Amino acid sequence: EMLSERASINSEAPGVNDLRPRRFAEYIGQRQVVNSIQIAVEAAKQRGDTLDHALFHGPPGLGKTTISQIIAREMETTLVHTSGPALERPADVVGILSNQKHGDVLFIDEIHRLSHAVEEYLYSAMEDYRVDFIAGAGAFAKTINLPLQKFTLIGSTTRAGMLSPPLRERFALTYHLDYYSVGELTHVVTRSASILSVSIDQPGAKVIASRSRGTPRIANNLLRRVRDYAQVRREGEIDDEVAAEALHVEGVDELGLDRLDRLYLETLARNYGGGPAGINALAASANEEVQTLEDVVEPFLLKIGFIMRTPQGRRATTRGMTHVGAPSDAAADA
Ligand code: ADP
Repeated sequence: EMLSERASINSEAPGVNDLRPRRFAEYIGQRQVVNSIQIAVEAAKQRGDTLDHALFHGPPGLGKTTISQIIAREMETTLVHTSGPALERPADVVGILSNQKHGDVLFIDEIHRLSHAVEEYLYSAMEDYRVDFIAGAGAFAKTINLPLQKFTLIGSTTRAGMLSPPLRERFALTYHLDYYSVGELTHVVTRSASILSVSIDQPGAKVIASRSRGTPRIANNLLRRVRDYAQVRREGEIDDEVAAEALHVEGVDELGLDRLDRLYLETLARNYGGGPAGINALAASANEEVQTLEDVVEPFLLKIGFIMRTPQGRRATTRGMTHVGAPSDAAADA
């Protein structure tokens, strides 16, 4: 899919699934979401019913897939994992749906990227547990009504706003996952380090946590890079000094911004004088995909107040300009 530099940083290395929490009790942070979904799961189990359809939205790497897998495990059902782009033709989705057993979870990642034709099949599948499709052609064509087992659809998206209203309305449960605090990410790092048998002290874990852009997936990836560095350059023990050194070598700065984040800011600052600049122009200048910039780079820069989205385009704030050493008199908030 996204073959950009950031996508490769963000995608998971083999074996990384060992780090996934398997139960609600192991899932760090997102307390409100976990509390609510735990009640829904418990109630459905007590009634011997299936769980209502659920939608998770928020930036990549925050635990949407993980919590969906936990839900399936706690419901003692099977999760079938697919994605919007993978379900190209209606036949793909009809095939999967007709194989689902009662209570199974169908997990659709990047659900905002479903084709319109496939989406239409989901409406009746979600609402009435049936699909109607046309078999044959011309004078011999006939509509077949296929009843389905009652199942749970879990959708995951980085762009809730791109979901069509009819699809969005069919999710009884909707949850937003937000960036994690440094404290929560320190916990993630400590937990992962113990699973990986890496020796790290609390200040070391905190350095990694505070440079992980609020994202557990990044925290785990940075932990692996720091572990490698500590193994090759030091005695293997990780403290704050080793962690800071290793992350500096990786091009991750004190705020957790990496080369791509800085490239984005620098392009906005130098090529466009701080903006406003359209996302397509920025992507072309930075030689990156629009989707990567919108999904992966911008949400965190917006969160920390380094950029603003205006009707005219993206603008860098004074803080954003200063961070990449650009004169800030043209900044959005100047
Ligand atoms: P998303 O589906 O939102 O892109 P994932 O569920 O794939 O994110 O999570 C990315 C990785 O981050 C997982 O492999 C897991 O190891 C880790 N992770 C995510 N959420 C948590 C959490 N709440 N506690 C501990 N680790 C987590």
